[in-house]
Amino acid sequence: MRVSVDADVCYGSGECAFRAPAVFGFADGYGFVLPGRAENGTDAGTGRDGEPGQDAGSGRDGESVDDELLRDIAERCPSQAIRIDGKRVTD
Ligand code: SF4
Repeated sequence: MRVSVDADVCYGSGECAFRAPAVFGFADGYGFVLPGRAENGTDAGTGRDGEPGQDAGSGRDGESVDDELLRDIAERCPSQAIRIDGKRVTD
């Protein structure tokens, strides 16, 4: 599962970073996916700690964010800026 934020759509509620700080950051009024957190538990592309194929967000610092939570965060993003596998998530 791959997660991303469309910065052109995000209006900066900060909710994603609040709910899953292991995956999302917030800076300059916009949410973003932390480096190395976009793809299934890999850490900055090095594979350190995380195993590809596990939940996005598992890996660095041992924190785990499961796919269901990420999908829920994407559904609740007030601007629907969060993409899962490149697609907008709606409930
Ligand atoms: S929850 Fe959505 S609108 Fe809010 S900061 Fe994150 S991506 Fe942007």
